[in-house]
Formats: sequence, structure tokens, C-alpha cells
Amino acid sequence: MSQRTQAGVIRGKGIVELEDVLVGDPRPDEVLVQVESAGICRTDLEIHGGALEFPLPFVAGHEGAGTVVAIGSDVTTVEPGDTVALGAAACGTCARCRTGSYPYCDNHVARNFTGARLDGGTGLRSLAGKTIHGHLMCQSSWADLALAHTSNTVKVPSNVDSTVLGPFGCGIQTGAGAVWNTLAVEPGSSIAVFGLGAVGQAAIMAAKVAGVTTVIAVGNRRPELDRALELGATHAVSARDGDVADLVREATGGAVQYTVEAAGKTDVMTTAVEVLAETGHAAIIGVAAGQSFPLNAWKVIRGRYTARPSAMPHRP
Ligand SMILES: [Zn+2]
Ligand SMILES: [Zn+2]
Repeated sequence: MSQRTQAGVIRGKGIVELEDVLVGDPRPDEVLVQVESAGICRTDLEIHGGALEFPLPFVAGHEGAGTVVAIGSDVTTVEPGDTVALGAAACGTCARCRTGSYPYCDNHVARNFTGARLDGGTGLRSLAGKTIHGHLMCQSSWADLALAHTSNTVKVPSNVDSTVLGPFGCGIQTGAGAVWNTLAVEPGSSIAVFGLGAVGQAAIMAAKVAGVTTVIAVGNRRPELDRALELGATHAVSARDGDVADLVREATGGAVQYTVEAAGKTDVMTTAVEVLAETGHAAIIGVAAGQSFPLNAWKVIRGRYTARPSAMPHRP
């Protein structure tokens, strides 16, 4: 049985309408969530603005949080009433999922970014019964009710305020995951974070928590630089003050061990590799789909970007 709910429906380039729509029952592996907060991430804005093409009409929203209202018959991980945050779905059965590398699931795009379920259908309809696309990151959380999947529904303690949880599903976990899991930074090390939106600020907080002692925030605008200093950056470098690579080197007194590129700009990606110390490592997590960026071959062969000390073969 479908339920009536409200959703922000993208009907054309730059056009989003708040509409009453119908959402279907959860399938056996799905979870129906009453959305209490949802971020507006850059990917949503690119879909809204037409830079990322999805079938229209379309409900965006890919970092939602709220309360479970119904579960499919196979769902064992959450139950109605649970407070949950919604991230990206993974198949759980491919080679990468079996090693715990869920973000690199072979079925990542199929599960999260087609505008439909795996079978091509959708759980959303207009009141007139016409198809509305969605299932963005297995949620489409710009709606009061979202159909999520058991693999991307994360139970959180019920005393956590769900209205602040939305951005954990994409921006916060992307920045923090890059620092803790991908770079696996060590206490006492140094890091430069380029781009100070939610992803970059999350990387800064994660670096502080991990005991990184030199945390350089690189951005364009004073308010975001000030926010970074509040959240744990030890240095703030404004890209307007000169050559960013020189300014980062000045801040560290040399080269930096780790960088995070969260600006989504290809020239910044090049800089994020070039300012690294030998054997330093860059996490390129800003989205610049379809674009390329140049790397200095000598700098790369000297262990930047491609090698981490912990990834080197151990010798007796
Ligand atoms: Zn996002
Ligand atoms: Zn998988």
C-alpha cells in the first residue's frame, strides 16, 4: 500500500517543487524511514542544476537521517522506532564488499546512482500514478518518507539528535573516512586539507581526533578558514594570499605528509600531490567527474601519492 508524503521533486534544470507524492511499501530488503534531517550536498545541487543528469522527475537527497517506520521481511539490522542515519548502499556480496571495502562495491553505481531500484522500477509515484525517479544513494531523502536499504541504514543511539545526523551519511563520513581509513594518519603527523565545505571540515576534525599535530586548512573564504581554525586546524592558508603550495610549505617548514583534496578542482588535485613529502599520500575525494589532472612524474616516482609506508612490503 502506498502512502502519501511530501517530497522535493526536481522537474527540470534548476526547478524543484515541494509536492505530495506516493511512496510504496518497503521491499524485503528495504527500510522506510521518516526523514528528520537531510543534507544538501554538492551532488544534489549538481543534479538540481542539470550538471549531473538523472531521469526526471527526480527526488534527490543522499544524506538523510530519521526514524524507522517500517521494515521489509528480511531486514534484521533495524526495527521500527530506531534512530538511523542513511549512507551509501553496497551489495555485500562482491569481492570488495567481502573484504569490507563497501565504498568500492562493484555495484556502487547500480545500487546508488541510476535513479531507480536494481530492477529499474521505482518506489515513488505522482498522485496521478506517474513514475517519479529517485532511490538516490538508496534513499532520496529530500522527502518526509524515504525508502532506504538494509545495507545503508545505520542505527545510532536514540539519544542522539537526529536533526544533526543528516550530513554524516555523505559529507562527514567522506572527510573523516579519508583521514582515518584511507590515509590512516599517525599521531604527530602533518596534513593539509584543500577545500573547506562539509567534507574538508570533517577531515580537519578527524585529523585533530587522530592526534595530527600540524593541520593546515586551505580555502578561499575567511569564514570557512575561521571555522576550520575553530574545529582543529592549526594553520589557515588563504588561496587568495599567493601560491598555495608555497604557503603550505611555509606552514609546515617543509613538505606535508598527508593531503586531502575536497575542493573538486583539478589544479588543486595537482597541488595536493606536489606539496607532499616523499612517501606522502594524498586522498583525492573532491568530485571532478570526467576531468583529468597532471602529475609531475618525478614527484610521483619518489613515493608521493602512490605509496604509503604502511603499504610497503615488510622486510625482515
Ligand atoms: Zn554527497
Ligand atoms: Zn559489493
